[in-house]
Amino acid sequence: MTQYEPVIGLEIHAELQTNSKMFCSCSADYSNAPEPNTFICPVCTGLPGAMPVLNKKAIEQAILVGLSLNCSINEFNTFARKNYFYPDLPKGYQISQYDLPIASKGYLDILDDTDNPLRVVVRRVHIEEDTAKLSHEKNYALVDFNRAGVPLLEIVSEPDMRSVEAALSYATKIRAILRYLGVNSGDMEKGVLRFEANVSVRPIGSSELRTRTEIKNLNSFRALTRASAYEIERQIEVYENGGEVVQETLGWDEARGVTVSQRGKEDAHDYRYFPEPDLPPLQLDRAWIDSIKSQLPELPDAKTARFISDFKLTPSEAQLLTSEQALANYFESIVAKSKSPGKAIHSWIAGEFMRYINDSGLALDEINLPAEKFAQLIDMVTDKTISGNSGKIVLNEMLKNGGDPQEIVKAKNLAQVSDTGFIQEAIEKVLSDNPKEVEQFLAGKETIVQWLMGQVARATKGKADPNVTKELLVKALDGKRK
Ligand code: ADP
Ligand code: MG
Ligand code: ZN
Repeated sequence: MTQYEPVIGLEIHAELQTNSKMFCSCSADYSNAPEPNTFICPVCTGLPGAMPVLNKKAIEQAILVGLSLNCSINEFNTFARKNYFYPDLPKGYQISQYDLPIASKGYLDILDDTDNPLRVVVRRVHIEEDTAKLSHEKNYALVDFNRAGVPLLEIVSEPDMRSVEAALSYATKIRAILRYLGVNSGDMEKGVLRFEANVSVRPIGSSELRTRTEIKNLNSFRALTRASAYEIERQIEVYENGGEVVQETLGWDEARGVTVSQRGKEDAHDYRYFPEPDLPPLQLDRAWIDSIKSQLPELPDAKTARFISDFKLTPSEAQLLTSEQALANYFESIVAKSKSPGKAIHSWIAGEFMRYINDSGLALDEINLPAEKFAQLIDMVTDKTISGNSGKIVLNEMLKNGGDPQEIVKAKNLAQVSDTGFIQEAIEKVLSDNPKEVEQFLAGKETIVQWLMGQVARATKGKADPNVTKELLVKALDGKRK
C-alpha cells in the first residue's frame, strides 16, 4: 500500500487590538459593545460615498508582527478591493492587500512532530478588515455590524508542514508571538484568532503539490488538529479508492467530527481584485519602521535561549515558562527576590503552582500571590526550614487564602526539626512498634528502610529533616545487628 504524507499550509486571521477600526473612528472593542449595531458609522456599514481612512496604530502592529516573523517590510503598500457578496460584508467588497502586502518572505522556526527543527516560510502578512457577525435563527438571520471593519491581519505560510503536530506547533507559536507583541489576546473562544488549514496528501518521497482543500474558520487548536487529521485520512482514502481530490472550501462540523463541503474553491480571479480607489498607496518611512523595530520585546525563542543559559534549564523547562510572557515575568520576579536556584523555582512553578492553576481554572492574572511571598516560601524549603511537602501545603494555602509563608508555617506548626533528640525519639518508637519490619531488615531486606522513613515522617507530621532521619535510622537499625 502506498504511504502518504500530509502537506499543510496555514492561513491565520488575527484581529488587531487597536482602539478604533481599520478605516473609521468607531471603537474596535466590539465584544464590549452595549448592544448590536452601536459601534457603527457610514464607513463600516458601507454607505455610498463614505471614505475610508487608514488606522496608523494597525499599520504599526502589522509591522511589529512582520518583523517578529522575520519578514521584509514593504515600504510601498497598496490596498485592493476583494469583491464578493455575503450579508456580513456591507460594501460588497473587503478592503485588503493583494500584490503589495505590508510584509513578505519571512519564516518561523518550530519543532516538528519528531521534535526536529523545522523552518516554516511565511509567505506574506497583509492587512484587511473583519466582517460583520451573523447569527442564524430558525427562519431568519441577524446581522451585527459592530465587528465590521475591525483591523484584521492575515498571515499566510508556505505549504511547509508535514504533520498535524507541526501545524499545531506553528499555530501555537504564532499565537504566543501575537500575545507577546500585545497585538492580539489569543482568545480563540471570542474568535479573535482563526485558522484556515490547507491540506493535501501525496505519496512519501514525491515532491509534487497535489490538489488541496481548505478548511475555514477553525476557532481552536483542537478544531485545527482534529479537522486536519480528518481531512488527511479522507484524502488518502479518496486516492486509495482510485479517486481524485477536488479543490474546495470546507467547514468543520465539531459535533460530528467531519469536514463538510461549503463551496467550490474560488480562485483569485473570482474576486475581481482591483486597486482600492479611495485609499492612496501607503509609503512607509524607513525611520518609522526602524523605530518600531526598536520597540520589539524579547520574543519567546530569545527568552527561551536566555533562560536555558542563565538558569541551567532544559529546553522544555524553559519553554514552559516562556510560553506566556506573564509567566516568564513572574518567574523572573521570583528569581530576583529569591536565594534559591532558578531550577528550583522552575520546579515550583511547573509543579504545584501549575497544578493549582489547572485545577482551579484560574488565569495567571487572577492569581494573587506576590512574587516576593512565593520566593520566601521556596527559600524556606531550600534552607530546610520546612520540608518539600510542607512547602506544598503552604503554597496552596497562600494561593487560596493569601497570607504570609512564615505565619502559615507557624500557625500550622510545620517547621522542620533537625533536632536529633526529637527525631531519635520518633525513630525508637517506630522501631519498637514495628518489630516485624525490623526483622525483615535484619534478614537482608534493605528496601524496608524507605518504608520506615515514611513511618517516621508520619510520626513527626513531616517535620523531621529527611537527611537527618535517614542517617539516624540507619544507625539505629545497624545497632540492632547481632
Ligand atoms: P491562493 O489562496 O491565493 O490561491 P495559494 O493557493 O498559493 O494561494 O495558497 C493558499 C494557502 O494554501 C497557503 O497557506 C499555502 O501554503 C497553502 N497551499 C497551497 N498549495 C497547497 C497544497 N498543495 N497543499 C497544502 N497547502 C497548500
Ligand atoms: Mg484562503
Ligand atoms: Zn465605523
